[in-house]
Order: sequence, then structure tokens, then C-alpha cells
Amino acid sequence: MASYSGSTGERPKGLFALTEQQQWRMEEVREIARNELVPLAHAGDPGAVNRPLLRAMGQRGLLQGLFPKSSSGQQSREAQAMELCILRESLASVNTEAETALALQGLGAYPILQSGSQEIVDEWIPKVADGTAVAAFALSETGAGSDAAALELRADPDGNGWRLYGEKIWISNAPEADIYTVFARTTPGAGARGVTAFAVPAARQGVGGEHIDLVAPHPIGTVTFDAVRVEKGEVLGEVDRGFRVAMRTLDLFRPSVGAFAVGMGQAALDAAVSYTATREAFGGYLADQQAVSHALANMATQLEASRLLVYAAASAYDSGASPHEITKRSAMAKLYATETAQFVIDTAIQLHGARGLVQGHLLEHLYREVRATRIYEGASEIQRTIIGRSLFRPSQDKK
Ligand SMILES: Cc1cc2nc3c(=O)[nH]c(=O)nc-3n(C[C@H](O)[C@H](O)[C@H](O)COP(=O)(O)OP(=O)(O)OC[C@H]3O[C@@H](n4cnc5c(N)ncnc54)[C@H](O)[C@@H]3O)c2cc1C
Repeated sequence: MASYSGSTGERPKGLFALTEQQQWRMEEVREIARNELVPLAHAGDPGAVNRPLLRAMGQRGLLQGLFPKSSSGQQSREAQAMELCILRESLASVNTEAETALALQGLGAYPILQSGSQEIVDEWIPKVADGTAVAAFALSETGAGSDAAALELRADPDGNGWRLYGEKIWISNAPEADIYTVFARTTPGAGARGVTAFAVPAARQGVGGEHIDLVAPHPIGTVTFDAVRVEKGEVLGEVDRGFRVAMRTLDLFRPSVGAFAVGMGQAALDAAVSYTATREAFGGYLADQQAVSHALANMATQLEASRLLVYAAASAYDSGASPHEITKRSAMAKLYATETAQFVIDTAIQLHGARGLVQGHLLEHLYREVRATRIYEGASEIQRTIIGRSLFRPSQDKK
């Protein structure tokens, strides 16, 4: 049986692929993850925010990749989707804790970066980028998950500002975050058109919350708001237009959830190739069985298709494609890559037999870890709805 080359996604020259510089960046990130981040991730408390890990990612410049600066050193207000995907895919192929810690800094802080006042940006982005402040994105509520526009957390007018009342749930990094991007109802009964985004420091009086345990340990919980005062200057974007802020963040972020899935899928495929190439059975190796090599072929092909969809969606975002094109491609990338990763990891376990199920085995970990990606930031059904809707837009929108 031919030996396995041990690819973790490096691509030979000449293929439609990342540039050499981007490939080099991926290898650099994997190297940092293997040597410096894995020990810190293992030393952390599973399910809690790992501040030493975040600070290390700040010191090594990884978090700064989420918040690029212009050549003059000014903070850019635009994130780069491809850089985000490169960071997420390469970290995920080595360590999911580091990957998730990095991703959540971006998810929580992008609404501030893209829609906050200069003062709010100056106050929070440098601290999030060096890993000394933890950010969170608070949209979901008990009665408003997939139907996020139904959210009811109240922002009642109070002099020059507002007071927030209510609860958010399933908020990553809650209740430990330092800064929350909170989507609240400023106009009752107005659906998506009556929501405002606010930057709310966790230290503000009246902010609380509790941790929730999930199948794969994740820093996640509720955030409660008991008459929490917010100022005009803390509005992100415009009053009653906060839903757009949320959707803009999700358009940027969904391809990167796909990249996370691709990184995990690649790790599972690598493990399956390696195991089946060396596992002796029936007078040869498992990989000699055609059924096994066909399973691996399907995994590799769908993973490659996922990767290309992710890169295409990120590139559409970075090159300023039309909003409809970006939304459609983001949804396709997230849908296909997360569904594929679930299939690839499940098949890798099948090919490993019992050992893939042992607690602490890489595949057992990935099997639990991948599940949520098909639910958060819009479940797969919601992505299909977005894609389906895009097919019926008037033809001028498609150009
Ligand atoms: C690990 C994790 C991290 C998360 N982090 C965050 C976070 O940081 N911030 C945040 O705001 N939220 C976060 N969430 C919440 C997440 O975004 C919601 O769970 C998600 O939007 C789905 O909402 P729900 O759980 O209320 O499911 P529901 O809305 O109750 O939907 C349940 C299921 O019904 C189906 N369904 C729903 N609508 C439709 C439809 N129109 N057509 C067909 N089927 C449909 C889908 O299968 C869906 O999974 C996180 C969730 C998880 C699991």
C-alpha cells in the first residue's frame, strides 16, 4: 500500500488555490498552533474562556489578522474574509479550542469595527486584537433563534440613551466576555426594522448571566440585562437598523464557519487515510478494500468542493461583489462545508472502528465539536432558504 503523504491542505503549484503567500501563512499558523497554542489550550478549563490562550494569540499576531490595518497604520474598518478563513481553517486542523477562541473575538467585535463610532473602535478593537478583552455577539433569545428578527430584548428610551431589559441565550463567551454586541428592540412590532445594535461593556451595572454546558465544551451562556444604561455613542450603525449590522457580520462570518468545518474535516480525513493505510486486516491493509478507498475518495472530493466554495465566498466578500452575491455564496459555503464535515468525521469514525469512539480520541472530539456548526449562525435549513430565495430574485439583481 502506498504511504500517505500527510497533507493538511497544502496544494501543489498550478492548482486553482491560495497564493503561495497564503499557503505559507497557513503553515505558519499551524506551526504556532502546534508549538505554542496546544499546550495553552490543554491547560485551560474546558468550556471557559481561556484568557492565556487569547493573550498568546494576541502576542503572536494571530488576532490582529482579524482586524487589519492600512499601510499608514490606521485601523481599517473592513475585515478580510479570506484572512479570517485562512486563520480558521489552519487553526481548526490543529486545535479547535484555539480556533474557536480566535473566531469569537471576530464575531463579537466585527459589528463594532464596521459600525461603531471612532471612539468605541479606539476603545475596544486594540484590546480585542491583543487578547486582553473578550468579545461576544448577542443576538439569539429563547423566543428568537432562527427567526432572529422576532427578538424582544427591550431598549426603553431613557433621557439621551436607553435602558436594556431582558435576556440573551446561547451567547458564545458569555457570561465571561468584557464587551457585548447586543441587538435590542427599539421599535416594538417593527420586526427586523425595529432592532438597534449596541456595544455594551460587561462591567456596566445590571449585566449578568450564567454558563451553559454543551455536548462539546464551549464558552457559552446567557446574558441578562436589568435596566442596563446605554448611551447614544454606544449605538452601532443607526437606530432601528441594527438587524443589518447583524446580517453584515453573518455574511462575513459564514464562509469562515465553513473554513472551520474544512479544517476539522481535513484533520479527520488525514486520520482516516493514515489509519486505513496501516491497519492490517484480511491479509492486507484496510485501504486495499475498494469500499474503504471509495469512502475516502468521497470524503476527499466533498472536502475539496467545500474548500473551494469557502474560498470563493471569501473572495467574493473581499472583492466587493454585490450584497446578494455575497449573501448567497456565504450561505452556500457554510451549508455545504458544515454538512460535509459532519459526513467526513462520521465516516472517519466508521473507518476507525471502536477506537474512534474512545473518549479523548481526536475523532471523538471532532464528532462532538462539528455538530453545532450546522445550527449556529443560521441552521442548514436557513442557509437553504437564503440560497433558494436568491434563485428567484429579479435577473438584474443577479448581475
Ligand atoms: C455552539 C453554539 C454557539 C452559539 N453562539 C451564538 C452566539 O455567539 N450568539 C448568538 O446570538 N447566538 C449563538 N448561538 C445560537 C444559534 O445562532 C441558534 O441556536 C440558531 O440560530 C438556531 O436557533 P434555535 O437554537 O433557537 O433553534 P430554532 O430556531 O428553534 O430552530 C430549531 C430547528 O428548526 C429548524 N428550522 C428553524 N427554522 C426553520 C425554517 N425556516 N425552515 C426549516 N427549518 C427550520 C432547524 O433545523 C433548526 O435547527 C449559538 C448556538 C450554538 C449551538
